[in-house]
Amino acid sequence: MAVQRAKRQAELTDAKQAPLDYENAENSLRPTSLHEYIGQTRLKRHLMVHIQAACTRKEPLGHTLLHGPPGLGKTTLAYIIAQEMRAQIRITSGPVIEKPGDLASLLTSLQKGDVLFVDEIHRLRPHLEEVLYGAMEDSVLDIMIGKGPSARPVRLQLQPFTLVGATTKAGAMSAPLRDRFLHHFKLGFYELPEVRQIINRSARILEVRIENQATHLLAQASRATPRIANRLVRAVRDFALVQKQDVVTISCVKDALQSLEIDDEGLDATDRALLRVLVTDFNGNPVGLSTLAAILAEEQGTIEDVYEPYLIQQGFIQRTPKGRIATRKAYEKIGMVGS
Ligand code: ADP
Repeated sequence: MAVQRAKRQAELTDAKQAPLDYENAENSLRPTSLHEYIGQTRLKRHLMVHIQAACTRKEPLGHTLLHGPPGLGKTTLAYIIAQEMRAQIRITSGPVIEKPGDLASLLTSLQKGDVLFVDEIHRLRPHLEEVLYGAMEDSVLDIMIGKGPSARPVRLQLQPFTLVGATTKAGAMSAPLRDRFLHHFKLGFYELPEVRQIINRSARILEVRIENQATHLLAQASRATPRIANRLVRAVRDFALVQKQDVVTISCVKDALQSLEIDDEGLDATDRALLRVLVTDFNGNPVGLSTLAAILAEEQGTIEDVYEPYLIQQGFIQRTPKGRIATRKAYEKIGMVGS
């Protein structure tokens, strides 16, 4: 029984679905302190104040919600929070936790001050949210023991902990869960000079030399997103190796981007197909998410979370109550005259 419980707990906390080498690749480039974490200046300033205050009071930080598109540094921040609070971190994700028993086993295993990181917290099953409320508010866990008429409620006292939730869709979370987070931080896309810094940092760690102009082009193609910047650094490193070059040059970056079908504004084949659907197939009329998803053969969630935020931020498309529409910039992008 104890072995089974330990096994299930390991499944819950080794919860990232990504293959191991991808995870290791991400981890090797993760900044480990707020000082190393590039950009998000206001967020860092606020977080630092709260961390210092909590450390002075010798209390946990307070439950923290991190919100923003994928790859902007939410998981990294969760690790940093634990590091700065000198706490252990346990990592899981909303869809992996299936039953109240799973959540109970995670929560009761936490030590005083631990950070529990729940990625994709908006995908937590609704009946589990209620279990979480007591844990978040009063560090207690109310569960039912047994089944049928002999079932009885039991209240367990938990160690004080910090829940760090990450979500790409704060709007998809229930208001009661959202309101139980003391700190809410929204991560925004990175400025070009910040992406360049991230590329330079990753290049140093990966021991790859990149020319200045090549770094600039890479930064422009990174969708203002650290994860993509790092992915491109790894890609150009391979291109340079195969082309037997010691330094990544601008032509090497151009080759890599061309083979990945990424243009110099960071748009890939799906982005461009999406713009073409709006501009050409629908003549600039609003298009609903489900229609877009069907035409592009992509999940609606992927379009909403991965593609649209950057296209909206860059001013290529707009979300209206009737659907998505292309802007003048989208028309220019795909070579059609103004909207
Ligand atoms: P998210 O959880 O938001 O999807 P991650 O925290 O996993 O994103 O970040 C993806 C990768 O980007 C990390 O491996 C890390 O190396 C890099 N990264 C993210 N934010 C920063 C930052 N502010 N400075 C430097 N690198 C960063």
